[in-house]
Amino acid sequence: MKKKLLEYFIKYVKIDTMSMEGQHQIPSTMKQFDLAKVLVKDLEELGLEDIKLTENCFVTATLKSNCNSKCHIGFIAHMDTIPGFSGTNVCPNVIENYDGNIVKLKGIELNPKQFPFLKNLIGKTLITTDGTTVLGADDKAGIANIMTMLYYFKNHKDVPHVNIHVAFTPDEEIGGGIDAFDIEGFGCDFAYTVDGGDYKDVEYECFNAASAQVTVKGLDIHPGSAKGQMKNASLIAMEFNHLLPIEERPEFTDGYDGFNHLCGMKGEVGQAELFYILRNHNKAILNRQKNDFYNAMEFINKKYGENTCTVEIKDSYSNMAEKIMEDPRCLDRAYQAIKKAGFLPTSTPIRGGTDGANLTKRGLNTPNLGTGGYNCHGPYECACLEEMENVVHILIEIAKE
Ligand SMILES: [Zn+2]
Repeated sequence: MKKKLLEYFIKYVKIDTMSMEGQHQIPSTMKQFDLAKVLVKDLEELGLEDIKLTENCFVTATLKSNCNSKCHIGFIAHMDTIPGFSGTNVCPNVIENYDGNIVKLKGIELNPKQFPFLKNLIGKTLITTDGTTVLGADDKAGIANIMTMLYYFKNHKDVPHVNIHVAFTPDEEIGGGIDAFDIEGFGCDFAYTVDGGDYKDVEYECFNAASAQVTVKGLDIHPGSAKGQMKNASLIAMEFNHLLPIEERPEFTDGYDGFNHLCGMKGEVGQAELFYILRNHNKAILNRQKNDFYNAMEFINKKYGENTCTVEIKDSYSNMAEKIMEDPRCLDRAYQAIKKAGFLPTSTPIRGGTDGANLTKRGLNTPNLGTGGYNCHGPYECACLEEMENVVHILIEIAKE
């Protein structure tokens, strides 16, 4: 099984599936079909039914229960890699029996001092990049794990299992791809994304998220005759930012602490704009953060005149914990499976969103499972084959009837 897992993984990471921001169609890049077509072929080889590849580049397939189970469980992983760092010509570097020392790659090194988790991987099989690309373990480790679970059931026909539905999806990294996913057609009681890190972690809490655009209108006058008249929008925008709580910036927060993140600004004398994202696991506190923006706006407008400052806040996604807690079968099943596989389950709050948050909001409870990957979204990305194998065992336990 381990050999098959490695074979799937290496094959998938070598296929370039970078997604691209700012596109108006799903998938954002046609090359995601290259992997989708390979997956269709591999699913055919495994004898799955109802294999579909949609025009939006969703691959779905079913392995029907071999024991008349009424339970339908979904397993989901995304095919794309981030747009921000190259995923072209990935050359995976497989290090068997890793010795715990610095791994030298082209131009960079994986140093256990910088990445202490490496010390836990001594004696295991470490898979790294060559230093010039991402590895794409995010989320091809998830895909390989799911495929290997299917491979297991193909070769263990005597093991009773539920109806297993799999979906491989485009454009997770740029957000929005999952909007085109047909939840009803998928037909599951609940599902899991296999897109996390730690193999024994079940993630079901994510941020509530909003974005804010602050626009400041100034009054541009020749600086030589500006006295008592000029309103410098850039300076007023800076003043606006100072009215927000300093300790609620990303660099001062972790765990369950939310933040306001200034992710962009444009400014001249006549007009300035500030772009923020607002995040909190707790909806009430997120609302308080939103109010901080409105209060700051009021203060600025009192000081500089009506309509100097406007704030536009939009909600983007919400914490899936609330919905999952209404029907926690998916959590119970995952925790049980992790224990049966011989591990102690953990749950850490996600400091971001997931496709699962979108699906959960739309009615399909979908917590996130680990993959065995590390350091995603850059050249330091790597994966541990044995930890990926642990995930496969957990997926098998989830799917067993
Ligand atoms: Zn991912």
